[in-house]
Amino acid sequence: MSKIPPFDLSEQYKIIGDEVNAAVLAVLASGRYIGGDHVEGFEQQFAAYIDTSECIACNSGTDALFLALRALHIGPGDEVITTPFTFIATAEVISAVGATPVFVDIEAYTFNLNLDQVEAAITERTRAIMPVHLFGQPVEMPRLMAIAQQHQLTVVEDCAQAVGAEWADQKVGGIGHIGCFSFYPTKNLGACGDGGAVTTNDPEIAATIRMLRDHGRRAGGYYHEAIGVNSRLDALQAAILQVKLRYLDTWNSQRRAVADRYRHLLQHVPGIVLPQEPVGGKGVWNQYTLRIPSTDQQTEQDQHCRRDQVRQHLQADGVSSMVYYPLPLHLQPIYQAQKQQLGQHLIAEQAANEVLSLPMFPELSPDVQDRVVYSLKDCLAGVIV
Ligand SMILES: *Cc1c(COP(=O)(O)O)cnc(C)c1O
Repeated sequence: MSKIPPFDLSEQYKIIGDEVNAAVLAVLASGRYIGGDHVEGFEQQFAAYIDTSECIACNSGTDALFLALRALHIGPGDEVITTPFTFIATAEVISAVGATPVFVDIEAYTFNLNLDQVEAAITERTRAIMPVHLFGQPVEMPRLMAIAQQHQLTVVEDCAQAVGAEWADQKVGGIGHIGCFSFYPTKNLGACGDGGAVTTNDPEIAATIRMLRDHGRRAGGYYHEAIGVNSRLDALQAAILQVKLRYLDTWNSQRRAVADRYRHLLQHVPGIVLPQEPVGGKGVWNQYTLRIPSTDQQTEQDQHCRRDQVRQHLQADGVSSMVYYPLPLHLQPIYQAQKQQLGQHLIAEQAANEVLSLPMFPELSPDVQDRVVYSLKDCLAGVIV
């Protein structure tokens, strides 16, 4: 039997290939490859989609986060509160601008920042809070905004995995002060290469980010008012994203259907904890990530035992699965110097040992999904002691 991949971008290309090809050829024929109508058009359409007044396209999700912090003049001596259970980019950009990431533990069921613990981490050096809508599940933004407002902090949302997710009918990226998106190919809205965007309702922040993304100049001249970067989005990627944006809601609801079906098929299986959508939020399921807790006995011997065993069994059956993320950021070599140690953020550490992401993409067919579920149930029956 054929191998089941964690995601499959070729299926999507089969459906929209003609439109993507036409968009690419139009850009090639136009002779305008940087900036221009496609980039501006995409920025307008994406701002309308998120419901913000401004969108600034850039080269990657990492750059979107970096540019946001730069525009807020966050730097040495400043602290930014974020989660230790995320892709490195979230904390990396905080360090890259010279500030210090302050990690706050996650909650067990959504894998998102535990809002009960945010206030205790605020000091007089804190400048911003950077929540991550992990795996496509939204953080409870109204509550976080209330905390931020009380302490006069700025909220920069890392929406890289959650384009289209909502809290109370508002899209993430339009609730905090600044939203940062990635168009890495495996994100829900993926380019055919790297890409990213920043959304905001603040015209001044938007103007600063536009200036910083293009060598610290305004409107393309040779007068530079800040040390910027080159982080422009290619016209080719913008044209492809314009095509794909039209399909995003359909794809997100297909992901939802896949998630519903996983829940339906797996809800009574012992030995696993299924992901949950937070009450009040609407997720977009960039990943379907369940937890496979180790038994107490195994935890003492080998923390990784049960999840890794299951993963190997799936692999042997030709079913790919992924571990996002095997080591929380506070335990990464780069943050060891910062008095970060084992046992500091227990829920994140436990998640790192227990998470397993099953194949998830809009075109995942019921037949293939059945094979994943069959194989998982089979392994679980075998490895439970
Ligand atoms: C993908 C991702 C990023 C970085 O986006 P790139 O476009 O790859 O630079 C940042 N944060 C999170 C949570 C991500 O998943």
